[in-house]
Amino acid sequence: MNTETLTMGKAVGNEAVASRGYAAMDSKSALAQFQFKRRPVGEHDVLIRIKYCGVCHSDIHQARNEWNGSKYPMVPGHEIVGEVSAVGNAVTKFKVGERAGVGCMVDSCRKCDACVAGEEQYCKDTVWTYNSPEGHIGTVTYGGYSDNIVVDENYALRISDDADLASTAPLLCAGITTYSPLRHWNVGPGMKVGVVGLGGLGHMGVKLAHSMGADVTVFTTSKGKAEDARRLGADHVILSTDPDAMKAQAGTFDFILDAVSANHDIDALLAMLKQDRHMVVVGLPTRPHALYAGSLISGRKTLSGSGIGGIKETQEMLDYCAKNRIGSDVEVIPIQKINEAYERTVKGDVKYRFVIDMSTL
Ligand code: NAP
Ligand code: ZN
Ligand code: ZN
Repeated sequence: MNTETLTMGKAVGNEAVASRGYAAMDSKSALAQFQFKRRPVGEHDVLIRIKYCGVCHSDIHQARNEWNGSKYPMVPGHEIVGEVSAVGNAVTKFKVGERAGVGCMVDSCRKCDACVAGEEQYCKDTVWTYNSPEGHIGTVTYGGYSDNIVVDENYALRISDDADLASTAPLLCAGITTYSPLRHWNVGPGMKVGVVGLGGLGHMGVKLAHSMGADVTVFTTSKGKAEDARRLGADHVILSTDPDAMKAQAGTFDFILDAVSANHDIDALLAMLKQDRHMVVVGLPTRPHALYAGSLISGRKTLSGSGIGGIKETQEMLDYCAKNRIGSDVEVIPIQKINEAYERTVKGDVKYRFVIDMSTL
């Protein structure tokens, strides 16, 4: 089925949906144009015409097979926003013409404890938006660096009509990945919170923690980001490469959110926590971190991890951001600049998220 042939209103297709996008053909070469098919629009599916897609560092890790297990061709992209262009007969959540978003997941088992609790990201059968087996047509799932996506309505998110679409796209991963741990560990007024790494995730962590009333400190390796950090909502900035600055703040933090994409000194950050407090890693570098047990023992500290957020919480976060006028700081690029954007992201040269304008495809 060609998307242009879908009529307005309810529709169930029986033909695969033709899609165009950009794909990594292997772990080494540049992303390039790619044509492929998505499953027909099923009874519970919506077809979304993609308008913008954010560029997450996880896309780069996976396109380059840095986590192993990458399947090619791979169409990355899990910060997807657009407009519904067709709906299956049983769809009730969306109408044609409405805005919709898709994050990192497009399905899960729906039965396990995690799914029942609305934490589908911890289901052992989560179907990721790309690089997962596609149960319907036997391919892999293809992500949002493309003109459209077919997704079950239960895994699509509502997007406010008032929100700026380009700066909303990164909320679907960077937003929820930082919102979820901040909520889980009850970050709020009276808490001194550290955010480590001022990248796509980190800058959302700063905005969100600030909006929740915390006193926010950014730990950065980039001296040049200090002014931006304050503009984004940080009360303080610490250059993590300055041992004296680190020492001066040791033992003063209630909570630390670590959003760094590369291996770095975890012990030095744990030393910043007060007794019995938590540090949560969301960054997922390629290699294991080194960790000195004494960093946890001394002060009975906890090191935790957190993965994106469930569908219900993602909707809560989108509504929270729309209400509080929070969006990502974005640099919108044409899709032809995607390979350059990858290089610049790896170098830390992005303020603070690249978002692809899909009309340029
Ligand atoms: P990003 O935009 O590239 O930001 C990463 C930041 O980490 C950089 O801006 C930099 O901040 C800091 N950094 C980079 N290299 C460093 C090094 N060698 N030492 C210390 N700091 C360094 O990446 P992102 O898109 O925010 O993603 C961050 C990480 O989270 C990635 O590993 C990604 O795969 C992962 N992720 C996890 C989840 C989850 O569910 N847990 C979801 C999405 C992404 P400064 O310049 O301020 O130092
Ligand atoms: Zn992501
Ligand atoms: Zn499940």
